[in-house]
This record gives sequence, C-alpha cells and structure tokens, in this order.
Amino acid sequence: MSYRPSSAHTELGPGFFDAVAAAAFPETILRHRNQRWAERVGLGNLTPQQWIAHFGRFEPLAGNIPEPLALRYHGHQFRSYNPDIGDGRGFLFAQVLDDQDRLLDLATKGSGKTPYSRFGDGRLTLKGGVREVLATEMLEALGVYTSKSFSLIETGEALTRGDEPSPTRSSVLVRLSHSHIRFGTFQRLLAENDATRIARLVTHAIHYYHPQAARDGDVAKEAPALLEAVAKASGAMVAEWMLAGFVHGVLNTDNTVITGESFDYGPWRFLPRYEPGFTAAYFDEYGLYAYGRQPGAIAWNLERFAECLTLVAPIADLEDALKAYGPAFNVNLRRMVCLRLGVKPVDEAADDELLAAFFQFQHKSQAGFERTIFDWHGGAARRAFALAGPQKDLYAGEPFDRLLAALEAHGPRDWTPEASRYFESDGPATLLIEEVEGLWGPIAERDDWGLFHAKLAHIEQARLAFG
Ligand code: AMP
Ligand code: MG
Ligand code: MG
Repeated sequence: MSYRPSSAHTELGPGFFDAVAAAAFPETILRHRNQRWAERVGLGNLTPQQWIAHFGRFEPLAGNIPEPLALRYHGHQFRSYNPDIGDGRGFLFAQVLDDQDRLLDLATKGSGKTPYSRFGDGRLTLKGGVREVLATEMLEALGVYTSKSFSLIETGEALTRGDEPSPTRSSVLVRLSHSHIRFGTFQRLLAENDATRIARLVTHAIHYYHPQAARDGDVAKEAPALLEAVAKASGAMVAEWMLAGFVHGVLNTDNTVITGESFDYGPWRFLPRYEPGFTAAYFDEYGLYAYGRQPGAIAWNLERFAECLTLVAPIADLEDALKAYGPAFNVNLRRMVCLRLGVKPVDEAADDELLAAFFQFQHKSQAGFERTIFDWHGGAARRAFALAGPQKDLYAGEPFDRLLAALEAHGPRDWTPEASRYFESDGPATLLIEEVEGLWGPIAERDDWGLFHAKLAHIEQARLAFG
C-alpha cells in the first residue's frame, strides 16, 4: 500500500476552518504507534524519527494539507446550544486514502491552542490519551465502527485538571477517522443562516462519504438522501454500542459525525452488568447519556442535523428520511447479536428472538455482560464450556432456558483458528474490560508501558477472534 495524500477538506473553501500552528512540546516520547493502520494508509515505513516529526511536531506530510486546520463547529452539549466551541485543542493535520480508496482524516487532540480554546489550555492529559487508545482498540475488536487511535506521544508538560491529581502528564493523540464533519458543523451554518455553505457541505459530504445519496446535484433531493444515509449509519453505530455493552458518555452533537463513526472518547465505560441507567460521566447528573438512553440521544441529535437541512430541502422529505433510523438500528441489533454470540443469522423472527432472550437473560441474571457473550460464543454447542465456567450457576431457570432455546435455533459460525484459540482459552481480553478501565491510572502514573502494550496485544487477539 502506498501513501496517497489528499487535501479534500480544503475544497470547502473559506468559512469552514482556520489555519493554526501546533504547540512546541518540550518532549516527544512515542507511546503508541498503530502500525496496522499506518500500513493501510501507506505510512507504515516511517522511521521512528519521521513518525515523531509528523505526529509530535506536525511537520506536514508530503503533498498534504500545508498547515493544520482548526475546524469550525457549534453543538448541543447536554441539550444546551453552545456556539463557543470548535476545534479547541485539535486540528485536521492531513488526509489520506486507505487500501479501500476511502478518504481518511488524520486529526489531533491535545496539539495546542486555537481560536476556539476559550479558557482551555489546548492540551490532552496522558491518561486521557491512554484511555482513548484503549477504548478505540477495544471497540474495533468488538465489531464497532470507530475512529482509530493512530499515534500517542507523551509531550512532557505538567497539566492542571480539576478532576485529577495535579499536576498530571500531557500527550498528543492523532486520530484516524473517515470524517470529522459533525452534526455541529452543520449547526454552525444554520446559526449563521448560511444556506450556500450548507448546500456546499451537503455536496461535499455526499461526494466523499455517502455517494449513494447523489441525485444529479439537486440539493433539495440530495439533502434528504444524505440525512437518510447518516440516519442509517448512526443506527448501526448505536446498535454496535448496545451489543458491545459500551457507554460513550458524552453524546453531544459536536461528538456525532456524519459517517456514523463512534468518536471522541472522554468518560466512556463498558457495562459490567446489564443496567439501562448505567451512566459513564460523573458530570452527567441526570443520566441523559446512560446506556439505555443512547438510541434516543442519537435520534435527538439526528433531528438537530435534520433542522440544519431545512435551509435547503423540504421539511416533509427530511421527516421521511429520519424514519430510516429505527429500522437501521433494529437490523444492526440482529446482525450484532449474531456476530457477538458467534452464530449464523437465521431470519428476522429467530434473530429478534435471540436478541430479546439475550437481553432478558442479561437483565434478570445480572451476569457479567461480556462473560455471557464469551461463554456462549458459538451457540448452544458451548454448553459444556459455559457450565464449567465462573457463571455456571446462572445458566439455569427460566430466562436462561429462553436464551438456550434461541441459541439452539442458530447454527455456529465458522470458527477460525484465532477464534478457537481465544474462545477456548481462559483469559480473553474481553473479560478484562473492567480491568482495562482500571488500567489508565496505573499505566500513566506508574509508567507501566509494558502493561499497556501487553493489554493492546491482548485486545488484538480479541479482534482476530471476532473478525
Ligand atoms: P469535548 O467535550 O472534548 O468534545 O470538547 C468540547 C469543546 O471543548 C470542543 O470545542 C473542544 O475543543 C473544547 N475543549 C475541550 N478541552 C479543551 C482544552 N483542554 N483546551 C481547549 N479546548 C478544549
Ligand atoms: Mg468533542
Ligand atoms: Mg472532552
């Protein structure tokens, strides 16, 4: 795979971003290099020195965007509209094509102040960087379409944060994501009543991200088609979270992108046990973004996105397009329950029954969310394995019988050698999700990078097993 640069985002022209400069960091120590994705975008051959030059000092990549661009956006944060945001500690650094000809962004978090930093320092804590790497790696392993963590470099500054022991260490993260165009990117243009730029952004979004929504350049038709495509992608994303037991934590419209990628990892958590009210962010006092509220939160965000498109398309057509969200969510719940439980889909009714039986069992038994998936991956044939494990006493009685019957109606998927090794072993990465969450402190505070890399290698086994 060769490196293929792009600067497609600059085609949007003035009004969408501001050229900025990266902070000069006192140190640049590589903590994570995503070699698998580096190879997929033709950057696998960079020397360690080159890697640091590009992803720690932000020297432009050849033929790429000449200077970093802080992206402009607004957003609803916990349902209040905030026009004072934008890339306040990050920027778009470069764009590249991957081995599937997809346009991908390399964008930063913690790279210094911008015109949108407000009172912030433009920095990312090392713990925050470690947490984003672990979240993205784990989610990718569990079949969630997520942004990737491309690079994490420790930067040698002492940061002050209210909610952490102070001072705390600093880092700069580079994310790889199909797009950083947020619902909030459109909301800013709505606030400015800028129909021309909304139309331009619709055209751009369709060209690079949702080509199936093209309607011969007729924006009044293309905007609803784009909305439908975004609604479908968003429905898939939320379904993937629900079957990963993942709670994103901050589902603001500036953290929701048009490609339906799971994106921006702050106070995320994985569910220990099924609990609809499980809330990840300590500051989410009312549980607005609790596990069970995620489908509704993203539906609400889609409505805000649809409002922006009313400047260029008929309301009735946008309302129709929004209806794609629910069915896409359901289709992907069925897909994901089969994927995670390692069985072949049967038909809508049988897969829906498996889904209902799975969630009912998780709810009533209060079993370990991920342990149940691990024990029964491969279906009813896993009975002997599951009944020899730590949850064996939970596998009896009414909600379990329903789950077993639903599993019996599904044949096992074809096992790969990686899956056998993983699911027949005793210490899978997925069982250690709670431990992963607990790791960020020890890794960053005790400087235990051996533990960090061991954990990433473990997660890699999970990725290969589910893949
Ligand atoms: P987030 O909650 O991380 O999605 O960020 C919301 C807004 O706050 C975005 O505009 C961020 O760029 C900005 N922001 C968050 N942390 C900082 C920081 N340390 N310095 C500057 N801006 C920040
Ligand atoms: Mg954000
Ligand atoms: Mg944040």
